[in-house]
Amino acid sequence: MSDREPAANCLFCRIVRGEIPAQKVYEDDEVLAFRDIRPAAPVHVLVIPKLHIATLYDAAPEHAPVLGRMLALLGRIAREQGATDGFRTIANTGRVGGQEVYHVHIHVIGGPRPLGPMIVRQQA
Ligand code: 5GP
Ligand code: ZN
Repeated sequence: MSDREPAANCLFCRIVRGEIPAQKVYEDDEVLAFRDIRPAAPVHVLVIPKLHIATLYDAAPEHAPVLGRMLALLGRIAREQGATDGFRTIANTGRVGGQEVYHVHIHVIGGPRPLGPMIVRQQA
């Protein structure tokens, strides 16, 4: 899906509208969180704004309240899902960032075991 895809066809907008099922773990008027379909760890939740924002490149000052609300919810969501001893947040952006779904989302990844280094460092 390209970042120019209209929201009508956006996978996560379709989840927001209930057209595609998801295992929701949190919802309010602006934010939705649901389990990742291919979890990378025992806890793997995606936290999204209900408003379609394709990428963090597209985030503008008017989006600050909802993005802030998402950040402020991460600890609560992680804890409620069982990640009580730490978790990792990832927001992949664009081609280099490996973004697959062009609707802003924050991954919350955790579980009982430490996750290891964030990325494999390249040799100098
Ligand atoms: P990205 O690579 O864009 O940061 O992450 C997209 C994530 O969405 C991936 O981890 C992928 O497993 C997840 N995903 C893709 N399609 C679906 C779906 O239909 N339902 C759910 N719950 N997750 C999905
Ligand atoms: Zn969308």
